[in-house]
Amino acid sequence: MDDMSRFLIRYGTLQKKNSIALDSPVSCLKGIGEKKTSILKIEAGITTIEDLLYYSPRRYIDRSALRKIIECNDGEDVTVSGTITGCSISVQGKKRIIVTLSDGTDILSMIFFGNIFYFKEKFTEGLPLIISGKINIHKNKKQIFHPEYDFCDDGFNVNTGRIVPLYRSTEKLSRAGFDSRGFRKLLKELLYSHKIGITDFLSHEECRNFSLPELEYSLYKIHFPENLNEADLSRKRLAFNEVYYFSLYLFTRRHYSEKNIHYNFHTAEMKLQNNFIKNLPFRLTADQEKSIEIIDKYLASETPMNVLLQGDVGSGKTVVALSTSLFIIENRGQVAIMVPTEVLARQHYATAKKYIDSSIKIELITGSQGTTEKEEIYKKISSGDADIIIGTHALFQEKIEFKNLQYIIIDEQHKFGVKQRAALRDKAACPNLLVMSATPIPRSLCLTQYGDLDTVKIGAKPADRLPIKTLSFTTERINGIYNSMLKYLNEGRQIYFVLPLIEDSEKTDLKSAESRYYELKSSFPDHRVELIHSRIETENKESIMKDFLSGSIDILVSTTVIEVGVDVPNANVMIIEHAERFGLAQLHQLRGRVGRGEHQSFCILLHPEKISDTAAKRIKIMTETDDGFKIAEMDLKLRGSGQLTGIKQHGLNEFEFLDITRDLKIIETAREYAYARTMELKTHEESQYKEHEFMGKNTRSRRIASLLS
Ligand code: ADP
Ligand code: MG
Repeated sequence: MDDMSRFLIRYGTLQKKNSIALDSPVSCLKGIGEKKTSILKIEAGITTIEDLLYYSPRRYIDRSALRKIIECNDGEDVTVSGTITGCSISVQGKKRIIVTLSDGTDILSMIFFGNIFYFKEKFTEGLPLIISGKINIHKNKKQIFHPEYDFCDDGFNVNTGRIVPLYRSTEKLSRAGFDSRGFRKLLKELLYSHKIGITDFLSHEECRNFSLPELEYSLYKIHFPENLNEADLSRKRLAFNEVYYFSLYLFTRRHYSEKNIHYNFHTAEMKLQNNFIKNLPFRLTADQEKSIEIIDKYLASETPMNVLLQGDVGSGKTVVALSTSLFIIENRGQVAIMVPTEVLARQHYATAKKYIDSSIKIELITGSQGTTEKEEIYKKISSGDADIIIGTHALFQEKIEFKNLQYIIIDEQHKFGVKQRAALRDKAACPNLLVMSATPIPRSLCLTQYGDLDTVKIGAKPADRLPIKTLSFTTERINGIYNSMLKYLNEGRQIYFVLPLIEDSEKTDLKSAESRYYELKSSFPDHRVELIHSRIETENKESIMKDFLSGSIDILVSTTVIEVGVDVPNANVMIIEHAERFGLAQLHQLRGRVGRGEHQSFCILLHPEKISDTAAKRIKIMTETDDGFKIAEMDLKLRGSGQLTGIKQHGLNEFEFLDITRDLKIIETAREYAYARTMELKTHEESQYKEHEFMGKNTRSRRIASLLS
């Protein structure tokens, strides 16, 4: 007998009277009037039966083990089952109702405050009851204040005596009766008095192949599992659906755009690109060469290119971007390079100017340019008098008309969502997109967040680089650190000094960038020390960066504004104070600012004596490895751990059921499956893919697609 039949037999006794469709409003359910309908909608986003069904438990509590009352000790969380033996109201002190329960071994009092008449009516002598709560022993008497309880009248308890789901609730929801208990009641009413039309797009056989339960089973069991394993299996199945719908959306969307963009490239002679590569002051690494070759091939193909270029910090992605741009330019197309900060835009502009032949017209757009200057550049762009345009995201917000934009490159933009990417491509009517990640991305995140992109990887860094030496010290050792700094400064090197806060704050005793800056200034009177952070005006920021790049600044004190992209090969020491306050990816990104030149580089992580275990782990990982791909996976693991039976991983993804830290296999399977389905569409239903049953009619899939941006 399979799980499903066992399950149906177990609950088959409860007759399902009414059929209900997934898109019926929740107001179809008993007790859900106008007011409750509106609160459910506003506070929990629940409007239909389907929404309610997919309202996932936040976690579960195990109340499945029944205890004898006689064995219950003070302070324990217990679940006991018994019969009501009495009910009385006490007016001594705060008004309360006392209900006594006996299980034959002992008696226990339940005490309720509040609407005592409500409780008085409920608890009639002789009724069987299961309760859960914390035992309090008072004058030798066992009691529980406001226990969870279930009457065993229909044989199906949802609050006690089982694995109990806990739901997200808000104060308003709670006041309307939708605390966890209220949701359980509502879901019980839905699941056990109705026949819901749930159709599964996976067949029995496919489910078995994927080792996943069927959809109907999962939607029941996610709420009312017999054990935690059932809950997790159900969660996995629902996660599969999420990734499936999402991937289907990406694949069909991409398929659609591929069919709708018409463009032709003449075969390029590759003169510009070859020249560019020949004139570089270094030899490309094998990985760079291979990446350029792959990207060229994508660019030359009939279908639009969508590529994520993954490479560790310092692996030389910029050269790949510029080199492939020349392919497009040789074919008379324009290229837009979008970067997250102005500092970076200027740097890329300088690099491009330096390496690319002066016959190619390169323009820079920044927020600080005057209106007339901007207008002039806009004119060049619309007349085709600009080949490469570099700027921040303003590049696409402003009223710029490109003459023939063929290639968009997005650099260092790891927080740029799927939807924004798609919008950008549509708006610019641009067929080719290259996204360059700031740091390596764990595979599971990559497959979801960047699921619409093909991945090209640069694994190795330029061979002439010495690995960065990473050391950690407590801040007490600062004098020793100053001595070493002096040594490197005297050798002609430059130093970054990074701190998390701009200025001192009364709320914390963290050292700020400002106060460290003043200390360094007085300790290094013969050297030029400067301070940079987000509140410094753009103009000043830029002149400081320019001076650091030219070598006239020796020590640059900074917050994380220098985190992304900045490239100053002569700087070989990165000191990060309060390293315990930074995430792994951020530390790695910061460290990537050094190790770019011929000199041995150092990264020094300073932290107070007392730090959290996770912070200590992060610092340890940093001192042990310089492999960005490894660090990315560790980062995900560290961020994921520490969660108990939590379903939703806050901040890590927008999926409801998917656990990005553990579900790589699910992601891969669901994606493959979605891909296969898309390929079917390609051959059979090409023109009407939008009407496809999963995309057009299924509200759930539409919602998932629209959620992820
Ligand atoms: P990232 O991948 O972090 O964006 P960059 O493109 O900024 O890295 O490159 C880092 C530095 O390495 C730059 O100074 C760049 O000129 C240099 N570089 C790039 N490719 C090579 C190479 N093949 N050999 C030596 N240096 C290189
Ligand atoms: Mg870069």
